[in-house]
Amino acid sequence: MRPARALIDLEALRHNYRLARELSSARALAVIKADAYGHGAVRCAQALHDEADGFAVACIEEALELRAAGIGRPILLLEGFFEADELPLIVQHDFWCVVHSLWQLEAIERARLDRPVRVWLKLDSGMHRVGLAPAQFQDAWQRLQASGKVDQIVLMSHFARADELDCPYSNEQVVVFEKARQGLSAEISLCNSPAILGWPQVRGDWVRPGIMLYGATPFAVQQPQAARLRPVMTLESKIIAVREVAAGEPVGYGASFVAQRPTRVGVVAMGYADGYPRHAPSGTPVFIDGQPAQLIGRVSMDMLTVDLTGLPQSGLGSRVELWGNNVRASDVAQRAETIAYELFCNLRRVERHYSAV
Ligand SMILES: *Cc1c(COP(=O)(O)O)cnc(C)c1O
Repeated sequence: MRPARALIDLEALRHNYRLARELSSARALAVIKADAYGHGAVRCAQALHDEADGFAVACIEEALELRAAGIGRPILLLEGFFEADELPLIVQHDFWCVVHSLWQLEAIERARLDRPVRVWLKLDSGMHRVGLAPAQFQDAWQRLQASGKVDQIVLMSHFARADELDCPYSNEQVVVFEKARQGLSAEISLCNSPAILGWPQVRGDWVRPGIMLYGATPFAVQQPQAARLRPVMTLESKIIAVREVAAGEPVGYGASFVAQRPTRVGVVAMGYADGYPRHAPSGTPVFIDGQPAQLIGRVSMDMLTVDLTGLPQSGLGSRVELWGNNVRASDVAQRAETIAYELFCNLRRVERHYSAV
């Protein structure tokens, strides 16, 4: 069998969830959209089921998958419904529902519902993607209250730049949020992972940790709270071929790497078809038999190459960690000019193995 696999440490997931709650002193919806950022939504939800205050997903399809698997905790739909005919299902399965646009508010007003729905009313405090404008916010609240279709409203907003620790924009968003909600008595929710970890002055009743649950830092720089996270995923494979390459000889497609000295090259069963980023350049860290090593040459679909010159003990069959406890996914991401979020979400073909259920 091809040795590429992703080990998922569910105990680390629980550790990170507890850290989110501890740092925020709030209730926490574990964000497990996009199949728990590639970690497997059902397994992650099951691992957190007994302690999580609830879960958050992108759409009703993802929420229904969780209910079908027996997840009985609250589940928030982060973009609410996409079509009004989802509303009866939302009520039937007791999903919580973001309202980010006036058309959704109008659909709720028009709907015939057996039971009231729990709404998270979203303000656009500066991200300018979804959310009601500050000038619409109070009126939307009044209309929801008057509709008789809603049992409780949580007020929420989302940060655009909380991962930039010295950027004042998050504080400006908080000011906009505070002004828009003046006089409304309701629970509030602002914080994503970077805000939970890096903005202790911003708090609320609910937080929405995503990437931190999976143990990856959202920051480009070292940060003390992020250092407490435990990586959940270890992406690993094995060396399937070894060769000696003379100085001056190229390795791989496009000869993007040329050996500067006699080089022992290991071929690893892992490629961009597995989700390893094709744009990771020569020099990207890997870990082989407990030792740091480097990627060389271009990543291909099913294989990539590493430099074994300094690792005489390693060879055919050696275990290679692409990211995990020794190589941080966020470092690989930075080399490939992307973010750990995308690396995790892009994972495919690789079988997941779970530990510490
Ligand atoms: C995805 C998402 C989150 C989680 O963000 P992280 O940066 O992964 O913590 C929180 N809130 C909303 C509205 C989201 O869409």
